Amino acid sequence: MANINDKNLKLAVQKQGRLTDETLEFLRKSGLEFESYKQRLLASCRNFPLEIIYVRDDDIPDYVASGTVDLGILGQNILNEESPKIKKLLNLRYGFCSLTVAVPKESEIKDIKELKGKTIATSYPESTKRFFKENNIPVEVVNISGSVEIAPALGVAQAIVDLTSTGSTLVLNDLRALTKVYDSEAVLITNEKTLKNHKKDLLEKLIMRFKGVLSAKDYKYVMMNAPEKVLPKIKKIIPGLKSPTVSSLATKGWFSIQTVIKEDMFWETIEKLKNVGASGIIVLPIEKMII
Ligand code: AMP
Repeated sequence: MANINDKNLKLAVQKQGRLTDETLEFLRKSGLEFESYKQRLLASCRNFPLEIIYVRDDDIPDYVASGTVDLGILGQNILNEESPKIKKLLNLRYGFCSLTVAVPKESEIKDIKELKGKTIATSYPESTKRFFKENNIPVEVVNISGSVEIAPALGVAQAIVDLTSTGSTLVLNDLRALTKVYDSEAVLITNEKTLKNHKKDLLEKLIMRFKGVLSAKDYKYVMMNAPEKVLPKIKKIIPGLKSPTVSSLATKGWFSIQTVIKEDMFWETIEKLKNVGASGIIVLPIEKMII
């Protein structure tokens, strides 16, 4: 990597796979301009001192831990299997999945306790061993690197532990979920060295951008009109971040109110606003929000 500017931050991302598209979309939403992976393994950002390095996601923890790169984006699931010399900075709110224990659809096993003494196939041996140990269930764990779902049909194992999101892969392979080991999503990681060295300030700037995109996901921008007499009720329903912006309209006694509403309370809040007399409610997505 001779032509990398050592003053720049280096970020490793998955070069081809499930997390790639959403990772690149997230970086672009953060305002970074760069080339996608095609034949290139490296892309320099045009508008931020950052080099993006495209690698296999399994290699990302080692690259970060060894200081070859400063940052990495990968699934929490990989982190749960790997070296602790890594520091998680942010959950990135995409790439959601769960590590799940599953058995063949027609199996009589209803509870994980019934897996005592059985063989479990997985690509996540460390997490699997930890899970069964914590639950005091002795099992045999077989490490398989791909197509784990087929192991029970081949007679290799009586159960599997694998990543699922919609559950459709389990269904397609005649498997039934028993329980969840953990939830996972894409995360941003770094190492102790980067947190302390000359790139610390750059890292803070980058994290502020990332947080701006993540916060924006949580909120919607809402504008509405209302007569003066209902303003106190409206203010109670929407405290906003600090307080809503209220400005008078050309029509006497009427006001325009602007605020942000948390996504998870969105419909509930809109219904309340309508009920107390707000009208002409307009809702806009927020691109970035620096709190
Ligand atoms: P890939 O190697 O391309 O299959 O990407 C795998 C990564 O995508 C995993 O490490 C997970 O973090 C994430 N992921 C999200 N949903 C799923 C899923 N249903 N199955 C496997 N991986 C998933």
